[in-house]
Amino acid sequence: MITGHFGLAAGVKSWATQVPLWALMFAAVWLDIVFVPLFLSGIETIETVPGAHIGYGGAIIHADYTHSLVGAVLLSALLGWPAGLLWGPRSGMTIGLVSFSHWILDLAVHRPDLPIPPGNMLGLPKLGFGLWRIPVASAALEFAILVAGAYLYWRAALAACDAKGRSKATASLSAALILLFGLFVLILDVAGVAQ
Ligand SMILES: [Zn+2]
Repeated sequence: MITGHFGLAAGVKSWATQVPLWALMFAAVWLDIVFVPLFLSGIETIETVPGAHIGYGGAIIHADYTHSLVGAVLLSALLGWPAGLLWGPRSGMTIGLVSFSHWILDLAVHRPDLPIPPGNMLGLPKLGFGLWRIPVASAALEFAILVAGAYLYWRAALAACDAKGRSKATASLSAALILLFGLFVLILDVAGVAQ
């Protein structure tokens, strides 16, 4: 899931107008960004599920540190803290919550591979509702979040243009770009090019 996370960030921008959109988008995929070096060094791994859709959702992801519940809370706090220093406590809290929303959305789609403590040290059952088992359903969920996010962004951007007496074309263009970019990434993701 990538598009769903970006869609949520666009939606949050509609009320968190003080936080830059790029920062919200960065926060939405922060756990996956930290995952990359751990994956490259073999600490976190991806296991293909036999017989599953290749690429999109066809994997058990052993991201036992970055995608553990406790790890997600800690990483979100780690990102929210400098954001708070930069843009104020409310923005820092928003960035932290957007970062943590990544774990909630992943919880919906991942097969049960999300541990509670880092490294699953207590051996508790792992979490995940497994919507990826039905790729059409998880892709539809991502698309719905994208459309809702782009719509909320568009509405707020139009209102901001009204208030400042600016042309509404920029607002509509940005919302259209968010929608197109999200759709493009979703198509790549489902096709197995990106993940
Ligand atoms: Zn993730």
